[in-house]
Amino acid sequence: MTAMHELTGISASPGIAIGKVFLYLDNGPSVPRYAIRAEHVSGEMDRLEQAVGRASDEIQSLRRTSEQENRDEQVKLLDTHLMMLSDPDFTERIQNDLKSKLLNVEWVLNAAIEEVVQKLHASGDDYMKERSIDLNDVSRRVLNHLLYRERINLADLSEEVILVTHDLLPSDAIGMNKRMVKGICMDAGGKTSHTAILARSFEIPAVVGLSNISRQVQSGDQAVVDGNRGRVIVNADARTLKRYVRVQSDWRKREVQLMRLNELPAETRDGKLVSLKANIEVPEEVDSIFAHGADGVGLFRSEFLFLHSGHLPEEEEQFKAYSYVLNAMGSKPVTIRTVDVGGDKVAPNLEGMNEKNPILGWRAIRFCLSNLDLFRTQLRALLRSSMHGKLQIMFPMISGVEELSQALDTLDEVKADLRREQIPFDENIPVGTMIEVPSAAITADLIARRSHFFSIGTNDLIQYTIAVDRGNEKIAYLYEPFHPGVLRLLKMVIDSAHAVGIPVGMCGEMAGDPVAAVILLGLGLDEFSMGAVGIPEVKRIIRSVALSEAEEIVGNVMEMRSFHEVDRYVNELMESRFGVNAY
Ligand code: PEP
Ligand code: MG
Repeated sequence: MTAMHELTGISASPGIAIGKVFLYLDNGPSVPRYAIRAEHVSGEMDRLEQAVGRASDEIQSLRRTSEQENRDEQVKLLDTHLMMLSDPDFTERIQNDLKSKLLNVEWVLNAAIEEVVQKLHASGDDYMKERSIDLNDVSRRVLNHLLYRERINLADLSEEVILVTHDLLPSDAIGMNKRMVKGICMDAGGKTSHTAILARSFEIPAVVGLSNISRQVQSGDQAVVDGNRGRVIVNADARTLKRYVRVQSDWRKREVQLMRLNELPAETRDGKLVSLKANIEVPEEVDSIFAHGADGVGLFRSEFLFLHSGHLPEEEEQFKAYSYVLNAMGSKPVTIRTVDVGGDKVAPNLEGMNEKNPILGWRAIRFCLSNLDLFRTQLRALLRSSMHGKLQIMFPMISGVEELSQALDTLDEVKADLRREQIPFDENIPVGTMIEVPSAAITADLIARRSHFFSIGTNDLIQYTIAVDRGNEKIAYLYEPFHPGVLRLLKMVIDSAHAVGIPVGMCGEMAGDPVAAVILLGLGLDEFSMGAVGIPEVKRIIRSVALSEAEEIVGNVMEMRSFHEVDRYVNELMESRFGVNAY
């Protein structure tokens, strides 16, 4: 075990976690390539046989557990994996490749798998594509044994861990066994990268942007994840550990205290009522929404239904998921955003997503408008689900009036279909626009006339306004919500919406940042939507300020010329006046 050392990154999800490191290197170093001599071919085959044997033992054991837990689907899947492992044709192919290429077995195996996966994908057949995911899974298991790397499917984690990894795909984060992951540390990522957002949703303390923690720790090391300050302490000494156990217990007590505000409204001292809602990624999060006293769901990122399953769900499956959330929320409004795949949210089975510049590429509404079947299916499922609660629909990444009109026209067509088929839906569903592209913010007055509400997506709006990738730790210092350019845009958007009498919400991470709460209130924001866990603290702040005071503070801020100046002023004020510590 190495001596105690401390690493600094970006705080991505608050709270303190203490536990044993599990180093997840699935996306880690690439497969080595080296030449072998002809007489070493049989030795390489022996290595392969042993690795296959170990992988097979692992799968058998997972299968036994799944069987005991009556998870039939899982059992079937594992049977497919076992069959793939024992395919004699494939073994023969590897042997032939070893002889002809005279390269190490890891390389030969990897190349063969890539070739088969590509063929399965090119077939265009959905069943074949699904098999390619299985094949990848099985081969990674074998490869990791060949490379002496620990591999475990994150869904199979059976003991509590601090997950340390280079980068974690949002789809991996959705699928992992969340009860067992007590903390997350990542080399890559920024505060608003999607894995960070998921960590907050799942209430798992996380520090991202640590550059190279995955090369500095080993599985079994002890780690303290301080999600409040963006620090990770590896192999803490007894004194430090004792201190953190105390900090952890104080933090938990504070959380419990804040929850007492659950039944109270988010109302300023001078009577301005705002709405505090929750962002969710998966339907199961509804319990947490109630636990934290949310006024509804301000953003349901529906694309996670797609990313997790790895395929595009049928209308019925989507209908069930939406209706479940709407039913659970009863009379509280639920805003469901249409699919926002692309960018850093890549679905394994969607073709054409291998772009040079995905953040500026084929994502969100652009993707939907060129996949009209998929878009219509989602709209049908949404409209049908509207009978089960108080639905609002929202379109992501709208860049101007044209795109919004196209999306609204498609919605009208789907409504007409349902009327023809006599399928009931709520005729008065409010339809809103996400403002997260600078051109939309600048033309907010035009877009407002065709929207029932706005929701500002600051995660993207900041990234596009300052031209700073929200997930890139190297330029995270530039990602500044208090940049005067961003503040001016926010003011413009809010004023334009109010001028035509529509409400403005915010569902980007800025809405849940306690340091920003008073500024957003003073700018006139009507609704704050955030990871449910952040609601009680934002409510405490709103209840302790008058709108007039917030407006005065905004007046001061709008005079400032640099984000340093705004940052200093707001942080000092929020700490001294409202007891907020930046996390
Ligand atoms: C945003 O961009 O602020 C937003 C809420 O959408 P997402 O984070 O899913 O891109
Ligand atoms: Mg966005």
